[in-house]
Amino acid sequence: MADANSVNPENNLLMKSGITGFFHALKELCFPSSCLICNCSLEYQTNEFLFCKNCAEQIKLTSEPLCNCCGKPFLHAAGDNHYCSNCLAGSQHFSKARAIFLFCDPIKTIIHQLKYNGKTTGLKTFHHIKKSLPHLNDMLVPDLIIPVPLHKKRLQERGFNQALILARYLFPQQRKIIQQNLLERHQWTPPQTSLNGQARRNNLKNSFRVINNNQIPGKKILLIDDVFTTGTTVNECAKVLKQTGALEVQVLTLARVEE
Ligand SMILES: [Zn+2]
Ligand SMILES: [Zn+2]
Repeated sequence: MADANSVNPENNLLMKSGITGFFHALKELCFPSSCLICNCSLEYQTNEFLFCKNCAEQIKLTSEPLCNCCGKPFLHAAGDNHYCSNCLAGSQHFSKARAIFLFCDPIKTIIHQLKYNGKTTGLKTFHHIKKSLPHLNDMLVPDLIIPVPLHKKRLQERGFNQALILARYLFPQQRKIIQQNLLERHQWTPPQTSLNGQARRNNLKNSFRVINNNQIPGKKILLIDDVFTTGTTVNECAKVLKQTGALEVQVLTLARVEE
């Protein structure tokens, strides 16, 4: 008669491999051994950003000198930050806009995958990259973090707002102040990517409004979006927030076009 305490070695092996498999899957989930961008396998876990050497070399982080206000990178200039001609003309309603990356591949692909496939690849890592960039550390300490809203028709089509997802990944410890119900995009407009300059500004004019007026006055607000192109979208948001009494509005985007 078998001892109640004895374990069938075969079962034991199965159990062991099951547990190993579980831990392997867990490890893969937390510490993927393949590059987050191109999927090639990473032999060693030495790269804390979890990108292969090839992909890591292509990523362009923003760096100073930048426009004091809109964050336009002066790519071929040395020296201190200064104002670009556009901001000198005084057309911005936000006091500062900054981005983590320049908008080029492979970040461009990551943003595209987030926007159109809901893939959150790499986003967890970006929180750490953000913290490592000195020029992002002197931004305001926000009372409210507001993701740039989508029109409800686009939200229904897409199923999620990529700016809200980004806000949650970039500020994992500040989820309580991330507010998606204070600002609304109430006018349906053609996608900004199909327009240029003045047409972009006209397209978005008065398309945002504040919903809870009493929540905004006196607040320091950080707006979050995926890409800063001409800044028209975030500037329109900043305008209505300032008109409602916001003390200061700054902008953080994942990426920024180079010019
Ligand atoms: Zn790669
Ligand atoms: Zn500027």
